[in-house]
Order: sequence, then structure tokens, then C-alpha cells
Amino acid sequence: MTPDQSSVEAFFSQNTSTPLEQLMLPELQASGVNLWLKRDDLVHDRVSGNKFRKLKYNALHACETGSARLLSFGGAYSNHIYALAALGASLGFETIGIIRGEELEGNNSTLAFARQCGMKLHFISREEYRGKNSPEFVEKLRTQFGDFYLIPEGGTNDKAVSGCAELSREISGQIDADFVCVACGTGGTFAGLVAGVESKTKIYGFPALKGAVFLNEEIDRLLPGGSTVPWELMFDYHFGGYAKMNRPLVEFMRYFYQHTGVELDPVYTAKMMFGVIDMIKNRIFPEGSNVVAIHTGGLQGLDGKRQEMARLLGDL
Ligand SMILES: *Cc1c(COP(=O)(O)O)cnc(C)c1O
Repeated sequence: MTPDQSSVEAFFSQNTSTPLEQLMLPELQASGVNLWLKRDDLVHDRVSGNKFRKLKYNALHACETGSARLLSFGGAYSNHIYALAALGASLGFETIGIIRGEELEGNNSTLAFARQCGMKLHFISREEYRGKNSPEFVEKLRTQFGDFYLIPEGGTNDKAVSGCAELSREISGQIDADFVCVACGTGGTFAGLVAGVESKTKIYGFPALKGAVFLNEEIDRLLPGGSTVPWELMFDYHFGGYAKMNRPLVEFMRYFYQHTGVELDPVYTAKMMFGVIDMIKNRIFPEGSNVVAIHTGGLQGLDGKRQEMARLLGDL
């Protein structure tokens, strides 16, 4: 049975305003920049950060169209799959996760959690995964699982853009931001921030993928009405590519935690924050400006990375 609309609305209206905290780091004193952290990691304990924002209007639309079953795609450590599974368990949606990599079948903590939430996991090869958006493949999934509401990989579609536009408006209500900075995977969150901003704010995106110039076009596609504010992607902070990390990045995470008490994740937010601090050191932001960096959450995958992080620090 489709969950009832009012319970979905109630779920998404909790914690509608996440804190905005000023960061005090030694680098900032010389630059005269005010750096703020938008703690969207605190929006919900399991439906974390930007995934909460991206799922909101998808879940509501599923309700409106009478769909009780949500299906989506992701890698074995996907924050999106984790969040979707948790959402399904909280609200009573059936969830199906199509997972890249048939060799996995398995039991990392992300997938174990998804299973615990009742998500049905279906593993496909990397090759099949590349063709996941073809009508034939989706038809095959409908034959196998019955009808479903399809949420694209990473949760990115026009509904996600609407949800992330609300995040932009929430920030505008908290501060007069000159710059807003966010990590990018599919670019959906970034596009929503651009769509929702009203003032003269410039939005900077930090792709977590190497060679992500395709994102410029993808963001144009997600913003059919164009944009009224300047935006730019910073392509030099991917640290070797998606989910790759090295010693300087892990040292930075440790440094940031020691000074702020806030944990970052090595896939997205640490790379973004490293980029922001680097730009501050390079005097990209004028003195006196308000720079807001968004903590998009996603700390669920961190435990699986601790061993590699310790090894990179030479502690193992
Ligand atoms: C998914 C994710 C992103 C990327 O969001 P997109 O909308 O795909 O660009 C950024 N940060 C975190 C923590 C994420 O989990």
C-alpha cells in the first residue's frame, strides 16, 4: 500500500532548518574571509544531507501517483542507496536497489544496512549497469519486479532539483552569502542550489570525479530555465578520481576534525572543503566575504574507509 501523503509530508518537514556554523581555522585570519559550514549532515540521522533534500519531492510524487515501490541504482557504498533504504523503512515504501557489480552480492556495511531496512538488492554487472537507463532494461526490471517509481542514480532528476532549491532558500534566510560551495557527483544538488538562489551569490561546485567536464552540460540540462546567478565548477580537487584518496587528503580530514570537531567524508565533502581552503589561501574570495560550504553528509561510508585512511597516515 502507498504510504499516506501526510506522513510523508511530516517526515520531510522535521528539521527543516539545519545549523549554519562559523568555522575558525588558522588560514582564515590572514584572508579576512568568513567561512560558514551549513550542517546538512544533521538533517536526519539516516537519510543524510543532500539525499534527504533530493528524495523529498520524489517520495511525495510517488505518493501522488499511487506508487508504493521505489527503485533506484547505485554502487556498493552509495549514500543514495543507504538513504533510500532508510526512507523506505521509515515511511513504508517498498524499496529495490539495483547495485553495480555482480561480484559483490555482499556484505559491506552499506548493503547490510539496506537489507536490514528491507530493501531488495539486485546485483548486475558493470556492463549491464552502463545500460541501466535504456528503455529495454527498465522494461526488463518492470517484468521482474512489477511496477515501480523509478529514481535515477544518485537520486538526480527534476524533483531532486526542486528539493535542493529549498536548501538554497534556507541558506538565504540564514545569511547573506557571497559564495556557496558544494561537492558534486551527478550535479543534481548543485543545479538545485543554482535554481533556488535569489541574490548575487556565486555557486562553486567541486566534482568528486575526474574528467567531469560533462557536468557543465548536465547542469544546463537540469536547469531548463537557465540560471540567473554565476556558477563555476572547480575541476582540480578530485584527488585522482571518484572515491580515490591520498595522504594529503586524509591529513586534511584529520586537521579539519581537530580544529572544528566536524568529520568529513573522503569521497565528497573532504575534497570540497580542501578546495575551499585552497581557494581561500589563493585569495580567490575577496576580504570580508561570506563563504558558505555545505556539509552534504554521507558519513555512513566512513567506517569502511578507516583502515585505508590509517594506512595512508602511516598508522598501520
Ligand atoms: C551524493 C553526494 C553528493 C553528490 O550529490 P550530487 O547531487 O550527485 O551531485 C555530495 N556529497 C555527498 C556527501 C553525497 O552523498
